[in-house]
Amino acid sequence: MSTLLNFIGGEWTASNAAEHALVYNPASAEVLANTPMSPASEVAGAVEAAARAFPAWRRTPLTERIQPLFKLKTLLEEKFDELARTITLECGKTLAESKGEMRRAIENVEVACSAPVLTQGYVSEDIAVGIDELMIRQPLGVCAIIAPFNFPGMIPFWFLPYAIAAGNTVVLKPSERVPLTMTMVMDLLVATGLPKGVVNLVHGGREAVDTLLDHPEVQAVSFVGSSNVARHVYARAAANGKRVQCQGGAKNPIVIAPDAHVDTTTQVVADSAFGCAGQRCLAASMAVLIGDARAPFRESLREAAASRVTGFGLDAVQMGPVISSGSQARVEGLIARAASDGATVSVDGRGARVVGFENGYFVKPTILESLPFASEVATTEIFGPVLSLHEVDTIDDALAIINRGQYGNMACLFTSSGDLARRFRSEADVGNVGINVGVAAPMAFFPFSGARGSFFGDLHGQGRDAFEFFTKEKVIVERWPRAVTRMF
Ligand code: NAD
Repeated sequence: MSTLLNFIGGEWTASNAAEHALVYNPASAEVLANTPMSPASEVAGAVEAAARAFPAWRRTPLTERIQPLFKLKTLLEEKFDELARTITLECGKTLAESKGEMRRAIENVEVACSAPVLTQGYVSEDIAVGIDELMIRQPLGVCAIIAPFNFPGMIPFWFLPYAIAAGNTVVLKPSERVPLTMTMVMDLLVATGLPKGVVNLVHGGREAVDTLLDHPEVQAVSFVGSSNVARHVYARAAANGKRVQCQGGAKNPIVIAPDAHVDTTTQVVADSAFGCAGQRCLAASMAVLIGDARAPFRESLREAAASRVTGFGLDAVQMGPVISSGSQARVEGLIARAASDGATVSVDGRGARVVGFENGYFVKPTILESLPFASEVATTEIFGPVLSLHEVDTIDDALAIINRGQYGNMACLFTSSGDLARRFRSEADVGNVGINVGVAAPMAFFPFSGARGSFFGDLHGQGRDAFEFFTKEKVIVERWPRAVTRMF
């Protein structure tokens, strides 16, 4: 079993960490690697390496700064299958899901190559007699990226390619639970010829994060993870004067109107709720059935849950395990809690056993019915393959459920009515809306939004927002008096 190295200043470096976290294949409980919980001094070393690389990188012409990204795109395509397999091994999702994730990562590299256009400023000539005014965008300096476990390959790419294309240098801290994918990606970044110190990777947990939040050389922090940690990161980094964007947790309602198509809607909703074992921040966790949608969808969603094939992600399955034994116990505990609060567990995924993978952290798809809204489970992010069904009479009732939730990551509506859809997309107070779509994941050229407890900050990851986040605007008002004596 290998102990992972940090990548600091262009060198793979062994950590002197006193503590380590084990990386498991969640389908088999086999240990894959050992992640050092790097101490503050090593994280500071990575920040300082990034700070040293910044002056030369920011002065590297923009057209040259994007060349490594074109090379990275080619290398990611060449290593696509290997990267996807690595994601499945350390994170548990199916190979198809891992490939989908890597495709999104690559799309972000492609969009970041538009930096020459998307980092342009603007000029107004003659704002007063003989005076011009211009706005230019400049890089910030060292940017920290802190990632969660559930998309080891994609989420760092919501930020990293934009940060470096805009002229910043980066310290990335992947999740200690899934560090292998970005370790592979670092080797690809090296192969692009990116100068030493422009991208650094440190492994670790809370101490590493807090060091990044406190270090005076870190100018900006991009975080994705649970809302409690997002709040902490946002508050501490902002108190230290840094620019911050923090994406948090979710509890996503999917509303089904009586005029929704039963078969397609059921398939799409089941994929949303149970895909990636429910460990997507855009997973459906509540299905809100309006009026006559109740009977057909209760039945069809139960069937879809019960028939989903669960197992090792490299086999021909539709769903893998959850990330850890702790997560498995937590999800099973929440199902038990829902039952004791009065819910009917009409499809029960607890105690799941997969032949050949008896030690894996499996929870099969679960359906909760009649879960009282007063139950804590109705408002808690479960982050497992559990869908609760709720019944309401009108779209107003459904919108009220969405808008009183503590999270605001995504809400979706399934309907044949354009009128209903138009109202929904306007009134649902969430960052991402799906209309007849179950996972409203924004493409790389759109911001990955979020509202209320799901997002802290203003500018988001991906696309134009990312370029705005990773640059500061400087305004110049300029007058050139006519020379008294002309030299020419
Ligand atoms: P997490 O909050 O446990 O960890 C995220 C990162 O923070 C990791 O790198 C971890 O090492 C670090 N961390 C953990 N505890 C910390 C602490 N006390 N202080 C400082 N740093 C700490 O999240 P996770 O379990 O890895 O990921 C799942 C969560 O991420 C879910 O809540 C999910 O909804 C959310 N998520 C949100 C989005 C989004 O776009 N909104 C996307 C993906 C995941």
